[in-house]
Amino acid sequence: MKGDAIEARSLTKRFGAAADAVTALDRVSVTIRENEFFTLLGPSGCGKTTLLRLIAGFELPTEGELYLHGQRIESLPPFRRPVNTVFQSYALFPHLNVQRNVAFAPEMQNRPRSEINAEVRRTLDLVRLNGFEKRLPRELSGGQQQRVALARALAGKPKVLLLDEPLSALDLKLRREMQIELKRLQHETGITFVFVTHDQEEALTMSDRIAVMSGGRILQIGTPTEIYEQPTSRFVADFIGETNFLAARCLESIGGRALYRLPSGTELEGIAIPGLGAGSDVTLAVRPERVDLVREEGQGMPAIMRTILYVGNDTICTVALPDGTELQARVQNRRGAIGGIEPGSPLRVRIPPEAIRVVGD
Ligand code: ATP
Repeated sequence: MKGDAIEARSLTKRFGAAADAVTALDRVSVTIRENEFFTLLGPSGCGKTTLLRLIAGFELPTEGELYLHGQRIESLPPFRRPVNTVFQSYALFPHLNVQRNVAFAPEMQNRPRSEINAEVRRTLDLVRLNGFEKRLPRELSGGQQQRVALARALAGKPKVLLLDEPLSALDLKLRREMQIELKRLQHETGITFVFVTHDQEEALTMSDRIAVMSGGRILQIGTPTEIYEQPTSRFVADFIGETNFLAARCLESIGGRALYRLPSGTELEGIAIPGLGAGSDVTLAVRPERVDLVREEGQGMPAIMRTILYVGNDTICTVALPDGTELQARVQNRRGAIGGIEPGSPLRVRIPPEAIRVVGD
């Protein structure tokens, strides 16, 4: 069975003197498993890099405990931790060629020359850069430099690889290629990857699990599907993908079914939420692709089409409920999907019960 690679227990980091201290991390607890591709996702300033730097040993926690494979590590200096970091800026030695850059960590570990050479060959193989040994960093493209940085980090045989927005300097096409490469590398090496990004799409496509952070805290941890399909807070629902929010009152929640009333008076059926009582005011979250536009009378809620935006694969429609509340619907462009419905046309909107999430603030 796989063990835990990293465990943080109530980890807090404050910068500066007491009076005007910045709390970058606020009692963060998280367990990252061995061989996992784990992503820290959140907006700028939420504490992602600080958590990574604490794991690497570049910063000391103000409070809390940090374990690596069951061993407490707060007092271990960075070079004694079986952890390596890949930075956004690559941080290659500009005067050393690819071979020497990659050989750096095994040389520091005083390994025999034959072993070092074999290690350089193995890691350059992994990142598909054989034949580039004699080039200097400035003679490489951005993507190739990032691969050298990866090879250099892997050559130290780390148990955990920390990646701080490693793809953000690359253009979109290269970024997509490197996302696939990174995923492959993680799979082939079995190393635990802790990946930092503020790009939700990148997090969803690459990760085994994601921790969504805001204001120095972890708001939710889950698989990409859980985070996307079952956000527990308004922040997570809003940060990951597009979401409609509807204010509603719970009328009843019994027998596996919940009934909500919108301000327009329309009633909506959802799935029962344990502990949610009749009379509670709630916020409902609904993804635009789960909002169906129908023409048949008697189905769903009445609405008026406001705007229709064609975006290639899909059409994004804004519809208004009778009280003026606007909802977005994302409709796949199959033939006739919304044909004949013009802005201003009446229509009906149907939301399946399982598409409705109740989110906290
Ligand atoms: P970004 O995506 O912009 O890199 P982040 O989520 O990685 O952001 P951190 O770099 O961890 O955020 O910063 C978290 C908070 O701590 C921010 O408010 C930042 O200004 C503050 N901070 C980080 N490092 C220091 C420092 N050395 N001294 C003072 N404040 C700091």
